[in-house]
Amino acid sequence: MKIGFIGLGNMGAPMAENLAKEHEVIGFDTVAKPDRITLASSAADVAKEADVVITMLPNGEILRTVADEIHPAMKPSAIHLDCSTVDVDSARAVAAQAEAHNLMAIDAPVSGGIGGAQAGTLTFMAGGADEAFARVKPLFDIMGQKAVHCGPAGNGQAAKICNNMILGVTMIATCEAFVLADKLGLDRQAMFDVVSTSSGYSWTMNAYCPAPGIGPQSPADNDYQPGFAADLMLKDLNLAQMAAETADADTPMGQAARDLYAQFVEQEEGAGRDFSAMLPRFEKRGRG
Ligand code: NAD
Repeated sequence: MKIGFIGLGNMGAPMAENLAKEHEVIGFDTVAKPDRITLASSAADVAKEADVVITMLPNGEILRTVADEIHPAMKPSAIHLDCSTVDVDSARAVAAQAEAHNLMAIDAPVSGGIGGAQAGTLTFMAGGADEAFARVKPLFDIMGQKAVHCGPAGNGQAAKICNNMILGVTMIATCEAFVLADKLGLDRQAMFDVVSTSSGYSWTMNAYCPAPGIGPQSPADNDYQPGFAADLMLKDLNLAQMAAETADADTPMGQAARDLYAQFVEQEEGAGRDFSAMLPRFEKRGRG
């Protein structure tokens, strides 16, 4: 398969490198020039020969600009596979535009982070037609360990933001419960031993415990270096709120989590730290 890869940043470069072990890959990025990937001089140049063009870009606005450049250049029936995390509306608009150009489109945001991109162990949440999903499935198998087909265009983004809204809310709940436990004189190990085997258990407690030295290894054991940065959690919580507004969904906990991560990242010490660094944030505060 001939693959074009646009957006060779922290995630895109290792994903493109993994694909290049089995396919012909040509990449383009306005800034990054990774030396292990064959590069073209424009996005349109990448697009014109490719069977599949993958984009891994920062946001929906940039995705729409790049789609405007590549769709007219792509071969009929080629597939635009967008793996960026973007708003649902942009994903659906780009898919509709692809269809108007006789192309196919899949939105397939990922979880698994930079480590997963390097190791080829990402999880893809995909939206788009069955035929397009089947055609790109072998590429998911190279870049990741799991791909879930979530329905038509935009549903991959919908799955991602719903998952991450739960994740953000749950992390905050786990961190504030640890601080309440501290203040009540409850030992953190005892707290973990109870909650991780009781009805309060969650991924944030059991697999990614925000308390250093408790539970399995996590960013808390590495001075809260990400991991999954609070900034990216804020991005996803903002996307969830944008979608909730469009869909008229009442999401008070998601909104509260968005507001708290916005305060943490924009006004406190959260930028560049793991999203579990909410725990030391709460430790420093009282109710006032
Ligand atoms: P990044 O900023 O490292 O990479 C984005 C790349 O896109 C940059 O190299 C930038 O130069 C390039 N770019 C911007 N505009 C361009 C254009 N018009 N044409 C070509 N290239 C352009 O970001 P990243 O960490 O690789 O994340 C990419 C996407 O993956 C984002 O949507 C992010 O939310 C999502 N994501 C990231 C992580 C993570 O842990 N980093 C995890 C899951 C999902």
